[in-house]
Amino acid sequence: MILFKRSLELINHLQAKVNAKLKIGFAPTMGALHQGHISLITESKKNCDITVCSIFVNPTQFNDPKDFQKYPITLEKDIYLLEKNGTDILFLPQAQEIYPSGTKDLEHYDLGYLESILEGKYRQGHFQGVCQVMSRLLTIVQPDFLFMGQKDYQQCMVVKRLLQIMKLNAKFITCATLRESDGLAMSSRNLRLNEKQRINATGIYQALTYIKENIESENFNNILADARSILESKDFKIDYVEIADANDLQLLKNWDGKQKIVALIAAFQDEIRLIDNMILNSEHN
Ligand code: AMP
Repeated sequence: MILFKRSLELINHLQAKVNAKLKIGFAPTMGALHQGHISLITESKKNCDITVCSIFVNPTQFNDPKDFQKYPITLEKDIYLLEKNGTDILFLPQAQEIYPSGTKDLEHYDLGYLESILEGKYRQGHFQGVCQVMSRLLTIVQPDFLFMGQKDYQQCMVVKRLLQIMKLNAKFITCATLRESDGLAMSSRNLRLNEKQRINATGIYQALTYIKENIESENFNNILADARSILESKDFKIDYVEIADANDLQLLKNWDGKQKIVALIAAFQDEIRLIDNMILNSEHN
């Protein structure tokens, strides 16, 4: 694995690969890597000749400064995992490299409805930050394939929109959510959970599973109220529990039984915010 800290050097290196007609796959991350991240690398290796991973804890996407300060960093282990799993290139920039003129007064993206709901509503400015960093990373890496996780469902939709805005042809691949054996979605933030919070945290998966199991027989209001009770019984403070059209994230109060739908949850164990989602009418989650 080759490690690049400077974008220009990475750009030059990748240009030679493009000239040699090699396909470039890209998995952007914020580090503290787990098997969920590695599944993106594995998927890239299946589809591409060169797999690039970036680790950059992007300051502009944190609406809560404490969340940014406490974001876990496990760089040595990350490098070990990436190397072990066949990553070709790690891009590890400093903030100065991504934002040479600082992070004030950055560009604004028109994300429309997507920014007014769920994560957009509860984390003001978050998706602007995601687009600001992703536009820079995509300009540097110019991938043929982009691998991102369904775990961040709305983020996938935002980045697909960004690809359109930037008129980039990268093929977007949504990778399934990897879970711990008790159902908890793998997440870097799980490292911050203490023993009790870690046990409680499975409540999100239980609530999603409950919604999925009862979606045919109950009305949405009742199901969502029950799901909230499951979360509250595990000491969660809830941001949202919603059911939405899986294609455009329009929030739904009922269902025609045909459209593809997804349940989405964001909730806190004390100050640690967790998110997860589940497609409700498919074998897969
Ligand atoms: P992050 O480091 O949290 O910004 O995540 C980097 C990428 O890994 C994003 O595309 C995430 O959606 C994806 N990811 C995070 N957790 C998981 C998971 N449990 N399973 C699959 N992909 C994940």
